Amino acid sequence: MADYILVLDEGTTSTRAMLFASDGVLVASAQAPITQHYPQSGWVEHDPREIWEKTLACALEVVPKAGGAASIAAIGITNQRETVVAWDRATAEPLTNAIVWQDRRTEPFCAALRDAGHEAGVQERTGLLLDPYFSGTKMRWMLDNVPEVRAAADQGTLAFGTVESWLVYKLTGGAAHITDASNASRTLLMGLEDAQFDEGLCDLLGVPRASLPGVVDCSGPLAMTAADLFGRAIPITGLAGDQQAATIGQACLAPGQTKATYGTGAFVLTCQGSRIPRSTNRLLGTVLTQIDGARTYAIEGSVFVAGSLVQWLRDSLGIVEVASQTEALARSIPDSGGVVIVPALSGLGAPHWEAEARGVIAGLSFASGKAQLARAALEAMAHQTHDLAAAFTADGAPWQSLRIDGGMSANDWMAQDLADMLGLPVERPGSVETTALGAAMLAASGVGIYPDLASACQAMRGRLATFEPAMEPDVRDARLAAWRKALSAA
Ligand code: ADP
Repeated sequence: MADYILVLDEGTTSTRAMLFASDGVLVASAQAPITQHYPQSGWVEHDPREIWEKTLACALEVVPKAGGAASIAAIGITNQRETVVAWDRATAEPLTNAIVWQDRRTEPFCAALRDAGHEAGVQERTGLLLDPYFSGTKMRWMLDNVPEVRAAADQGTLAFGTVESWLVYKLTGGAAHITDASNASRTLLMGLEDAQFDEGLCDLLGVPRASLPGVVDCSGPLAMTAADLFGRAIPITGLAGDQQAATIGQACLAPGQTKATYGTGAFVLTCQGSRIPRSTNRLLGTVLTQIDGARTYAIEGSVFVAGSLVQWLRDSLGIVEVASQTEALARSIPDSGGVVIVPALSGLGAPHWEAEARGVIAGLSFASGKAQLARAALEAMAHQTHDLAAAFTADGAPWQSLRIDGGMSANDWMAQDLADMLGLPVERPGSVETTALGAAMLAASGVGIYPDLASACQAMRGRLATFEPAMEPDVRDARLAAWRKALSAA
């Protein structure tokens, strides 16, 4: 019986193919690194051919482990968001390198748009801010700077897409030029209300509407792979950007349910249900899912420095040899001895948005040592998360729970500290592969293995560890007061 789900998880640094059984158990996976190109300071590019070839190679490696394509019910795709690929419909070949989400080259264009007073209107329509992070200004840069892209636009053969769109185009042998609403909501070109690319926004950014993909659901019969790739045509029934997929993988489908991914940085999304998010605290509004044309939304905020602070303790200060040693160090003392770290090593993200802020270590004394610094570094995660929670609450999206994942969430001490400082139960799934699992859930419900997404989440989500808040309120208040003082110094 065909009941395996093949997930293609195309990330920034690597691409993976993962095979899930219909109960959510990971059966096999293959991974390949993606080459990072840095042509200039602040520029980051990927080769779209490499993305496609390595993703296909990983898929071809795991398909036999299912017993062949006949055993694969459906494909789900999740991807690094915002990264833009431009290709020619006439040749199905890329016209230039992909511009990656981290790339800052379009800041001057964003600044000009902000100076011309466009940010409020764009935020109202798209839920996003005028920042180089998002796809639209990257498309405009390609049109202005790559003659092949402009020529294809003039001839009417230009195709733009985010990474899932590029992969679907190649997987279908050029039959489908589509994007799902969660990825489309990261472009600056899509209205949150109707999830369609907007003529006015396309005109503002100078991107021809005809070059953009059709916006489709995140789950359902979306496309079929070309028969020759895997030996039979396999339906593609799940598509979502990586952070939305992780939110689904954590079963955050009801308003207030929140997931936080602690990797290099931390990404937090709170489900808003069918209500369109409107932030007055510089958080982002985004599509979480679109199924049968009906959308759910999420509010999103991120902090720039999470696990990378621990990496810095390891690589620059040599306080630990491996990241996980921070846990034993934090447990070895009753408190940080007044040491507070503000991890603004590359500026502060939401809700502060201070690009020029820099890190602070406050409260040093002769009693401060490795353990105090390690503990203060882990405590900083709860402090930053606490500030985000306050901003979400101010935007009318208070958290009901916090479900954590990402490499750093393996740290039990940090998980307990999060619960204590937020005053909320913190849940952690047995497998932290929530991004791929979310894509598997979309694909499994999309192909009819489960009647709907909620059933897929219930059936495929594994066991959870729960951390209950236990800290005395005065300890918590003292910690927050010291944090605020240090923050003002940053
Ligand atoms: P990314 O996907 O952003 O590359 P990961 O999800 O793999 O990141 O998480 C790795 C990060 O988490 C690293 O920055 C590392 O320092 C940190 N990390 C991993 N394990 C632990 C741990 N047990 N305690 C504290 N930090 C950890």
